[in-house]
Amino acid sequence: MSKMVYSFGAGLADGDASMKNLLGGKGANLAEMNKIGLPVPPGFTITTEVCTAFYALGQAYPEGLDAQVQAAMAQIEATVGKGFGDAANPLLVSVRSGARASMPGMMDTVLNLGLNDQTVEGLAAQSDNRRFAFDSYRRFIQMYSNVVLELDHHMFEDILESYKEVNDYSIDTDLQAEDWEKVVVKYKAAVESALGKPFPQNVHDQLWGAVGAVFRSWKNDRAEFYRKMHDIPESWGTAVNVQAMVFGNMGETSATGVAFTRNPSTGERLFYGEYLINAQGEDVVAGIRTPKSITKVQRESMGEAGLSMEEALPEVFQQLVTVYGQLEGHYRDMQDIEFTVERGKLWMLQTRNGKRTAKAALKIAVDMVAEGLITEQEAVMRVDPAALDQLLHPTIAPGAKRDLIAVGLPASPGAAVGEVVFDPDEAEELAKAGKSVILVREETSPEDIHGMHASRAIVTSRGGMTSHAAVVARGMGRPCVSGAGDIRIDEEAGIFKVRGREIRKGEVISVDGSKGEVLYGAVEMEQPELSGDFAALMIWADKVRRLKVRANAETPLDVRTAREFGAEGVGLCRTEHMFFDADRIAAVREMILSETKVGRVLALTKILPMQRQDFVEIFTIMKGLPCTIRLLDPPLHEFLPNSMEDVEAVAAATGLDKARLLERAKELHEVNPMLGHRGCRLGITYPEIYEMQARAIFEAAIAVAKAEGEAPVPEIMIPLVATEKELQILKDRVDAVGREVMDAEGMEIVYMVGTMIELPRAALKADEIARQAAFFSFGTNDLTQTTLGISRDDSGRFMGTYVDQGIFEKDPFVTLDQSGVGDLIKIARDRGRATKADLKLGICGEHGGDPASITFCEKAGLDYVSCSPYRVPIARLAAAQAALA
Ligand code: PEP
Ligand code: MG
Repeated sequence: MSKMVYSFGAGLADGDASMKNLLGGKGANLAEMNKIGLPVPPGFTITTEVCTAFYALGQAYPEGLDAQVQAAMAQIEATVGKGFGDAANPLLVSVRSGARASMPGMMDTVLNLGLNDQTVEGLAAQSDNRRFAFDSYRRFIQMYSNVVLELDHHMFEDILESYKEVNDYSIDTDLQAEDWEKVVVKYKAAVESALGKPFPQNVHDQLWGAVGAVFRSWKNDRAEFYRKMHDIPESWGTAVNVQAMVFGNMGETSATGVAFTRNPSTGERLFYGEYLINAQGEDVVAGIRTPKSITKVQRESMGEAGLSMEEALPEVFQQLVTVYGQLEGHYRDMQDIEFTVERGKLWMLQTRNGKRTAKAALKIAVDMVAEGLITEQEAVMRVDPAALDQLLHPTIAPGAKRDLIAVGLPASPGAAVGEVVFDPDEAEELAKAGKSVILVREETSPEDIHGMHASRAIVTSRGGMTSHAAVVARGMGRPCVSGAGDIRIDEEAGIFKVRGREIRKGEVISVDGSKGEVLYGAVEMEQPELSGDFAALMIWADKVRRLKVRANAETPLDVRTAREFGAEGVGLCRTEHMFFDADRIAAVREMILSETKVGRVLALTKILPMQRQDFVEIFTIMKGLPCTIRLLDPPLHEFLPNSMEDVEAVAAATGLDKARLLERAKELHEVNPMLGHRGCRLGITYPEIYEMQARAIFEAAIAVAKAEGEAPVPEIMIPLVATEKELQILKDRVDAVGREVMDAEGMEIVYMVGTMIELPRAALKADEIARQAAFFSFGTNDLTQTTLGISRDDSGRFMGTYVDQGIFEKDPFVTLDQSGVGDLIKIARDRGRATKADLKLGICGEHGGDPASITFCEKAGLDYVSCSPYRVPIARLAAAQAALA
């Protein structure tokens, strides 16, 4: 770590955009923008390695850093022709965090650093604006005291408020130079009385104080929460960027703004953003003043009063348009930029790939292919599969009755219904208790992030499209309406008032984040449309994907949905789910409770035609695609009667005695049903059950083959196998039934018999088991349960703690435990294929729809993944990305 500081400025830079790990996103892009000739104030970046060293050394700086910082500071001084701490011609700097991944608003920033009682006079003379100089100084004292000296910002706000009151001022702009001078004196006195020492006047002390505070902010609570939520490792650390200040608050030809090169909500190719005249950057993000639109089109569409930047500052606006074109051409992606205009001159302060909704990500990726900016394969890599979930989710039905209560900005699309809650902690509690809540707040801050995460949607009464609420909600995929200005919240009374109406905490509202509307009650929702850009991206994904994607489905509705989402077959039809239908559950209970084979066969005869009809429907919908049908695998307790009513129904259907039935149910009770009389063990002990199911499958397949002219290929799957012998016995019986049905029907069909791998022994003895199996399907729900010895039904009680303490990186029932369960999968693959080279391999546990687990399946060389219908598109995209990576 010899080089710890990287300079940039005047068209030169030590770093570039490829060095994000070392320089953080902000630092790397500041260097890159310099290199491509954009106007960037000079500065330097202290690397993320220094942050790591800072913590390793017990919050101290590595040797040699001081000299490198001094040299870099001298370089800034030379470039701008000012001196750091120079009383007559002072250089002021900003000190900002910048991690590898963007963490908006989570860490600390100090602006106007370098001001003290002497340099403020220099700034006043230099700018010919005493009011500006003292306003800057008081902002600096407040920010520095809060961030570095850890004093409460309310202290300063109270001083300012009482100063205004005494002097009869209503807004900050009423204060003149002398007023700010007096406020500065009061601020400094307050710091001194709070700390017992004066506000630091030495600019070098100020600088090191700020650098340390930024490094320390890497480990503040909100940054930690954000990292956890976005899977950002703590070991990355943040860089620190020190940069010459430029001022957007130097009068009416100065401004500051943030913009996206395309609309981050819809993806439309329209320059989109907000700015404020005569303001400093933080004013826009903090939501203190409501910013104005950048373009005239945007202003008009928002029905906004006042001038857009295009109209107010037309020349600088044109410069900005040129710059954003350059940026998109260079980065080949939508950019999120920050800029400042100082007395008519444009300065770029940041660019990064813009965060966007799933809808926008999709549109931008597809549009950029059409524009020739990126390839189809790059487009496939640009959309986060997990975020597709947002597009697969409901919106408000077009014809639905809308009782409009408030209107704000369409900050994040999608719709949700929930109970009103005002407090983020309460939102989190209620959500944990299973309630759907909508967080309604004046504005949000990084401290609220846990409550936003717990809420179905977010509504704020203040703030714009780039306010904290808007940015964070879009990132989380929560619908959000921001700046609903008519809402008045009275948190203590537990109500919000809006246009003469009162809505209480706990009342149900609906949020339409795509329109910016808040509606009363639970409004009707509609399922999403999957054509257009979505279909285009899916076609590109399908071109490069190797893994097949099937669905876990059994009802005709689910099977049809799966087909519409592009499933290439059924990977798991859980036949026990079909047994819960109201018109068959009595017969199923009759079968289970029966004490004799005759009794069971009688009950099974009632079930057979229904079961056959199920399979006819599935085969017909899947039109010749493979369908894996799993024979009965019920943990028995799920089927035992659980009320007197259930017992009476079985008694009525069979004429059996109620008391005897109850006794029988007791006999069947198991201590540990998950490891009990389930899976193939049931088939071994009661052969007639699997024989009935096999008969239903063969008869249905032949019926469909005759009716449709195209024969389905059933894949009959035996669950919970541990030994070859189990499978051998059951396979022989299935084959025998198949022979019998085919002979009787006078038609041959192709079918397969295979097994699930759900037990460690099955994985280890895969060489033997493969002698009887045409395919393996990894049942990773049970395989995780049996490998870890953790009950899949009870893990919720402690898994959170395990993940928090880093014992598991992720919940292993959601994301495959690659090193443990994954090893068993690889062992089963190798041993199975050693016996049978063409053994077909798939996965049908919940992991089949999880992008990280799908990546594992690709690497492990499985043939297909199978997941719930709504996850099929996610799996298709994840499989494509895994293949490309
Ligand atoms: C599994 O165990 O992963 C599986 C798919 O079967 P089930 O969830 O029905 O036990
Ligand atoms: Mg299972």
